[in-house]
This record gives sequence, structure tokens and C-alpha cells, in this order.
Amino acid sequence: MKEKRVHIVTMGCQMNVYDSEQMLRHLAPLNYRPTSEPDRADLILLNTCSIREKAEHKVYSFLGRLVRIKRVKPDLIIGVGGCVAQQEGYRLLERASHVDIVFGTFSLGRLASLVQQVEAQKRQIVDIDPREESEPLCVTGPVLETERATAFVTIMQGCDNFCTYCVVPYVRGREISRAPEEIIEETRLLTENGIPEVTLIGQNVNAYGKKNGQGCDFPALLEKVDDIAGLRRIRFTTSHPKDLSDGLIEAFGRLDKLVPHIHLPVQSGSDRVLRRMNRGYTRDFYLEKVAKLRGVQPDISITSDIIVGFPGEQNADFQATLDLVQQVGFDSLFMFKYSDRPNVPAARYADKVPDVVSGERFNSLFEIQTSVTLKKNEALVGTTQEILVDGHSKKSPDQLTGRTACNRVVNFSNGGSTRVEVGQILLVRIVKAFSHSLLGHPVGEGYREDVGENGGLSHAA
Ligand code: SAM
Ligand code: SF4
Repeated sequence: MKEKRVHIVTMGCQMNVYDSEQMLRHLAPLNYRPTSEPDRADLILLNTCSIREKAEHKVYSFLGRLVRIKRVKPDLIIGVGGCVAQQEGYRLLERASHVDIVFGTFSLGRLASLVQQVEAQKRQIVDIDPREESEPLCVTGPVLETERATAFVTIMQGCDNFCTYCVVPYVRGREISRAPEEIIEETRLLTENGIPEVTLIGQNVNAYGKKNGQGCDFPALLEKVDDIAGLRRIRFTTSHPKDLSDGLIEAFGRLDKLVPHIHLPVQSGSDRVLRRMNRGYTRDFYLEKVAKLRGVQPDISITSDIIVGFPGEQNADFQATLDLVQQVGFDSLFMFKYSDRPNVPAARYADKVPDVVSGERFNSLFEIQTSVTLKKNEALVGTTQEILVDGHSKKSPDQLTGRTACNRVVNFSNGGSTRVEVGQILLVRIVKAFSHSLLGHPVGEGYREDVGENGGLSHAA
């Protein structure tokens, strides 16, 4: 069979990164191999995100750029998958008539058959139907890209929480957990292929196994993953505060491979807003969870998501958020301006916050958090951290980069002749702090430390 090329563009969250890999697995039997060059591709797939309006705009502007390629290469197949595809269905073809396949979040398992139909019949297809019971949630197979330090493993899909701003339950469906044996098998395969770190992903991993009787809840699953020989680090995301159990909190004190980092989205510091968001917890409840986590693991890194300008958010509500942010001292924050999404209850709320006010609130929050993060980073100067090397720094390609257990980015130069490889765990001394990263120098066997000019350190093997 002739080898063909597929170029996949992934937008959005970790779920989409994982799903793009699933797409490659489904297409491998049709002899499609990945290419990073869209001009050389026989098939271009866009894996989309609809969490905010801006993300959706990006989809159409990207599709606009593909018109030129399709004009010079009429046999090129263009497919749009993911959350925008699920949400828009046929409407997507009306706005982008050069698209051949629209496949939703539940039809990923049918992708190969859809591509075959378009190849044979040269017609447009839309499949946003539900997943068939016989179709597996995810397919486990050979590790496709081994030159990397870390990998995502989906443990559940969908969400039952219906936060009033969020499109996820509508485009990803109800919560469903994957069998523990499949998760273990996939993680074991990754480990055997030299990938030392996994991130277990789901919209609310704390609800893992609760609904469809997996006989194993999330802390029990973590224990099984912790037992996998050769695996060095376990991360997970995302944790819903309302379901954060004492069992999971205790796991941070018990499991060797579980990194001391939790992403625990709070969304707002105001009880009134939290209630209108349908988050199912109060500010005090959240603060109690933070205190418990720090009781078990004093150095735990806590990161969060915050939405500013939720409908009806008043200045006092926003001040409560700023107050909470300072009280908790998050290690870092993802901040978003509220964005109306189709079908969600908040889109129908009348008391929208003007964009200019959301913008000002966003900027104040950003400023406060930047200084908190910088202070936390500065406190690490002079310490030695274990980092997992994950490649070259994007900003300074002559530097390597890695992540601490707490998920901080550390850039460093490998001045010595000691070879540093992706996936290696290395000790570095932190010499400088910035608001989004740290600068370090490798220490230990193979490196000699010299105090260089400006008090910095340089290294030779
Ligand atoms: N399941 C995760 C949770 O509940 O924490 C969050 C998943 S969502 C993909 C990531 C983040 O996007 C949310 O935590 C929220 O802060 C943000 N988000 C979701 N809907 C949004 C909206 N309509 N406008 C702005 N931000 C939104
Ligand atoms: Fe969206 Fe809320 Fe579910 Fe997270 S928990 S995916 S924010 S509905």
C-alpha cells in the first residue's frame, strides 16, 4: 500500500493532544504517516477546541489558510475533528466548503473508515453521532513518538458537572471512566519505551471510577500506576475541588512517584459567583482543601484556573478573588476572561460584565499573580532541584530545558561534554528566577562547578 502523509494540527487542552495521537493510531493501518509539513500532506486534520470563543475563531482562520493548498492540490483531504466539529456539525461545511470530513468527539474511532469513504467516493461527510458501545474509548498500541520525556494517558472522558459557563459536557458528553487495566497497560508500554513521566488526564480525575463501577477509585488507580517499574513521575489533571477526597490528599504523602503538584481550579473567590457557576463548593471549602494538602505535603505546588468577568461579577466579588489569590499564594494561574459559549446557561444570563471591565480585572489579577509567582521562583534560587529534561528551550535554542517535580520550567546550558538526553533526570542548582521560568546549572557527577563572572556558574565535564 502506498505510504501517505497526514498533518495534524492540535488546538486546545491535553485531551486534544492525546486525541491527536489516537488519530494517528487509527490511521496507521491505512498507511498514513505523520508529517510536520502541510504542503506535503495527503490529509490535513484539525483537532479543534471550543472552550472559548477565541479558540473557535482560530479554527476558521486556520481553515481559511488551507484554501490555497487545496486549490493547488485538489485531492488533499481536509478533516475537522474535536469540540468545534461536534458543536457545529453541518454548519461547519457551510462556513468552510473546502472541508471534506467533519468528525465529532464521539466519532474519532470511526476516523479511518470516514477517510476511506472520502478517498473512494470523493464526497463530504459529517459524523457527529454518538460512540457505538462496541467502539473502545481509546486504543492502546505501539508508542508513536519515543523521543520525549512525558506523555498523557486518558483515564476518563466527558464531564457530569455542568458548570454554567462550560461547553465541555455538551461537546464531550457524560463522564465515562476507562478500565484500570487499559490505563496500566498503556502506562507500562510508555515506560518500557523510555518515557519516564505520565500525566493522567480527565476533566475531573477525582470522579474516576465512581460511576461505571471500575472497582477502583482515583487514589487506588494512582497506587497501581505508582507500582509500575521504571516509571519515575506521575502527574494528573484536572482535579475538581468538590471531589478532592482525603484519600487523594493522603496519596501525596504516600506515593513516591506522585509529584508534589496539584492543579486545582478555583474559578472565583466569591461564594456568590461560585454558586452561579454551579461549582458545588464555597471559598472556605476550597481553602480547607488547600490547608489539608499543605498539611500532608508542605511544599506542594498549587496551580489554578480563574475566570474573570463571569456574568454578574461585581467589584466586591472580584476583590474576593484577588484576596483568595493572595491568601493561597498559587504557584501559577491560568486566567481567562469569561466568554459566552453556545447552549451554556451563563450565555443566557442578562448581567454581562462589559469587556473593558473584564480586561481591567484580568490585568490586575495578572499583575498580582506575576509578582506572587516571581517571589515563589526567587525562593528557589540557591536550591538544588531534580529536573526531567524535555528538550531545547524555545526562546534560547542553545539552552536545554526541563521541569522540576513541581512543574517549574528550568532552562540550563550543558556546558560540559556530558551528554544530556531528553527524558533524563538531572540535578540542577537554581541560579536565577524569572516570572515564568528558572535558570539552573547541572550539578553532580560529570559536572564541575566553577563560579563564573557575575557570580554565575559555568560547567565543564
Ligand atoms: N475540568 C476542568 C475543571 O473544572 O477544572 C476545566 C476544564 S476547562 C477545559 C479549562 C478552563 O477553561 C476552566 O477551568 C475554566 O477556567 C476555563 N473556561 C471554561 N469555560 C470558559 C468560558 N466559557 N469562558 C472562559 N473560560 C472558560
Ligand atoms: Fe467544564 Fe466544570 Fe466539567 Fe470542568 S468540571 S469540564 S469546568 S463543566
